[in-house]
Amino acid sequence: MSSGDTHEFISKVELPFVMIFLYLINASIMTMILCFVLWVVHALYVTPDDDTESKSSHRLGLIGKITVFLFHHRGIWHSWIAWTVLFVIEYHYVGLAVLGGATSVYSHLMMDFTGTWIERKKTKIKRAMWR
Ligand SMILES: [Zn+2]
Repeated sequence: MSSGDTHEFISKVELPFVMIFLYLINASIMTMILCFVLWVVHALYVTPDDDTESKSSHRLGLIGKITVFLFHHRGIWHSWIAWTVLFVIEYHYVGLAVLGGATSVYSHLMMDFTGTWIERKKTKIKRAMWR
């Protein structure tokens, strides 16, 4: 999944639901615009997969090459704690507009986590069958 196609697709599916949620709670138009901007940033550019050769790291150009060089895949860029700290700080400045980026990043982390979990279970079953 490191090309990022699946993550981007899921992020695109999520966005209308986030916007509808903001509309239903009477969020301001500025909050909705900011939410969309943060969605663009975190769904297409600053994503957990900036630590590997992915579409998002390629979009960042030189910065993407530097992050790929400096960080190993699924290290700090895939840290739930690091992203949560970032989103708490973002929330302080932009309020609920943070949902634009947070939903995208957390769905990415959840998909990576479940994908890894399923692979581990498959491996465990295969090993058990060959004993
Ligand atoms: Zn990932």
